[in-house]
Amino acid sequence: MTTTSTEPSLVLDSVTLVHGDGEETVTALDDVHLTVAAGEFVAVVGPSGSGKSSLLAIAGALVPPTSGNVRISGTDLSGLNRRQLTRLRRDHIGFVFQSGNLVPALTAIDQLRLPLTFGKAGEPRDPAALLAEVGMTHRADRRPHQLSGGERQRVGIARALITRPSLLLVDEPTAALDRQRSQEIVGLLAREAHQHGVATVMVTHDHNVLHHCDRVLEMTDGMLAEHTPDTVASSQPR
Ligand code: ADP
Ligand code: MG
Repeated sequence: MTTTSTEPSLVLDSVTLVHGDGEETVTALDDVHLTVAAGEFVAVVGPSGSGKSSLLAIAGALVPPTSGNVRISGTDLSGLNRRQLTRLRRDHIGFVFQSGNLVPALTAIDQLRLPLTFGKAGEPRDPAALLAEVGMTHRADRRPHQLSGGERQRVGIARALITRPSLLLVDEPTAALDRQRSQEIVGLLAREAHQHGVATVMVTHDHNVLHHCDRVLEMTDGMLAEHTPDTVASSQPR
């Protein structure tokens, strides 16, 4: 697998994703073009059903596009078999979900050690140092049920970053958090993206956190377009 640092971390080239077959088809992604550079933090907004999760599934090499081309750190996914796709996900991609998705029995520090047991090319980050970076050293020995929603999300982010992914995919990270925690979590994602060169794509409904992002895109009926600050403001609840 060849990887060059000059390549963008993620390229979607004319990607279309059609769910179903016969008469019951849904075009979840319609000719989507997207390039995300290393260290760039991109937000994707849009109404429910517009294709945001489909976009993350494609970018995460979880489903192949119906047509078009996906490249991750310079690797064209269309040439890879299942095994190679699994390895590419392990080595290049981190996922962060709405509620952290932590393993109930494991302490915070062990959540970070777990991905390291799956092996990976390259040097991982140090679990204790990364836990400190997300402000969780004082909770290292706690299990998920002993953590607040914001704390669980910090651990989830650290766990996703432990293997130094080139691409971080984040699905509604603040959906369960209050306004201040939301700012802290998205601020943390921005800092990690910028300081560690992690290309980050975050799906969100939360217009209050968009100022942390380098770019805001909007999905509408499977089509992706640049989002202007005016439309952001006008779509905020009053
Ligand atoms: P969002 O995340 O923005 O809510 P999705 O990507 O989940 O949107 O869905 C986009 C469209 O594709 C919706 O119309 C949805 O019903 C449809 N869809 C998503 N996944 C599937 C699937 N596995 N089979 C059939 N239709 C699907
Ligand atoms: Mg969704």
